[in-house]
Amino acid sequence: MKHYTIVGNWKMHFGQPEAAVKYVKKLHERVKPHTHVTSVVAPPFTALAAVAEEVESDTFKVAAQNLHECDEGAYTGEISAPMLKGLARYVIVGHSERRRYEHETDKQIAKKVAAAVRCDLTAILCVGEKLDDRQEGHSKRVVVDQLHGALSQVAAEDIKDIIIAYEPVWAIGTGEYAEPEEVRPVVNVIRQTVEEMFGRDATSGLRILYGGSVEPDNCKAYLQAENISGLLVGGASINYEQFSRIVKIAQHLADSS
Ligand code: PEP
Repeated sequence: MKHYTIVGNWKMHFGQPEAAVKYVKKLHERVKPHTHVTSVVAPPFTALAAVAEEVESDTFKVAAQNLHECDEGAYTGEISAPMLKGLARYVIVGHSERRRYEHETDKQIAKKVAAAVRCDLTAILCVGEKLDDRQEGHSKRVVVDQLHGALSQVAAEDIKDIIIAYEPVWAIGTGEYAEPEEVRPVVNVIRQTVEEMFGRDATSGLRILYGGSVEPDNCKAYLQAENISGLLVGGASINYEQFSRIVKIAQHLADSS
């Protein structure tokens, strides 16, 4: 039976604890736990504690949207992996918005991935090409380079704690999603690259998610694709009807796989 992971990245929405809890309650009314579908919500830091308390059930797990690469130190305003313990089980690393607006590099992202796994957090590492890379036919090369850089500080035994999210940058928040036929070769090269880096045994359970303008009407094709075991959802994750529909579609597909 296929196992899916569906992650909702709330970005800078529902940052007030009351609003976040209200929203999670709406998801709880609609989504029931499922053994083969892991549903994850990623609220802003300010709502993590409230959401973590609210979702203390099997239905949803909690992710942070970022972390600092050091465990502690003089880094005003930053949040480290040890600070996330007890609040989140997952952490998104290297999201394209952080690469773009905060100028995060693969070198820095590599340290963040290592910091996450050191603290038993599952890192959701985002990779993906920009529009011009795609137009020039470099999608695979960009993603392979990002993987080599971002996974340079971890060992084979850490791979079980790392999820790769393939998110073509041009498809994020644009409504312009990538056709599954276009996604498939890139996802295959992601698996192949991680396998070459860490060996087949370490990589056998690797989860690769697709992200980029996913919504209830287009999610099924990705979920059915070989080598895709879930979704990273932005815009549709802050609409409880849409997010719960996506999770239910994954649950239905898991049941019939
Ligand atoms: C994202 O931010 O990771 C994302 C995939 O956003 P959206 O679904 O809105 O494209």
